[in-house]
Amino acid sequence: MTKMDRCPICNVSVKPDNLLRHLSDIHPRHPDTLRLREELTAEPGRVAPRPSGVPIHVRGWHVALVILIVLGGTGAYYVTSSVTLCPGGSFPNVAGTNYVYHWHVSLLVHSGSAPVPIPANIGMSQSCTQPVHTHDGTGQIHIEPNVNRLYTVGDFFLVWKKSFGNPTQMIVNITDVTPSPSVILYDQAEIHLFYESFT
Ligand SMILES: [Zn+2]
Ligand SMILES: [Zn+2]
Repeated sequence: MTKMDRCPICNVSVKPDNLLRHLSDIHPRHPDTLRLREELTAEPGRVAPRPSGVPIHVRGWHVALVILIVLGGTGAYYVTSSVTLCPGGSFPNVAGTNYVYHWHVSLLVHSGSAPVPIPANIGMSQSCTQPVHTHDGTGQIHIEPNVNRLYTVGDFFLVWKKSFGNPTQMIVNITDVTPSPSVILYDQAEIHLFYESFT
């Protein structure tokens, strides 16, 4: 029987020697990934022995390619992959119990100096619950996917049926970032979006 580990970020079970790869593949931009990778790499027996004959540069090349794709193609990747349609035209149904992770993000949208209300039950219908949805009007987004992948602010706007448009400012966890719909919805993030006028 293989001993399984759990990913400290999304809690899925992973084979011990796949955990490092899981972290770089699934959570490349999570704020804890770098630290976790360093800690795990230092653990004896964590890194699987490299099969002899496989040159190191192949792996380095792969890593470089992944970084290029992540940096260069994030927008396109998420736009094309985000909408997995469920019957009736939205995301797959997520029953309350079979989600892979359950995260919460606080979204605050400002139009001029006025706060924009974010309605309750965005992404909820009788037949289908989107992996990214709201339950109440507080701006708390629930991310409860039944597949192991990340979601972005843009995904939430798709579910909300609003255009991300051209925010004048975007703040993620008190840090100013270049406004982008590709910002990932990580657990406990607080995201502010400022618009001259939001419609
Ligand atoms: Zn929920
Ligand atoms: Zn929730």
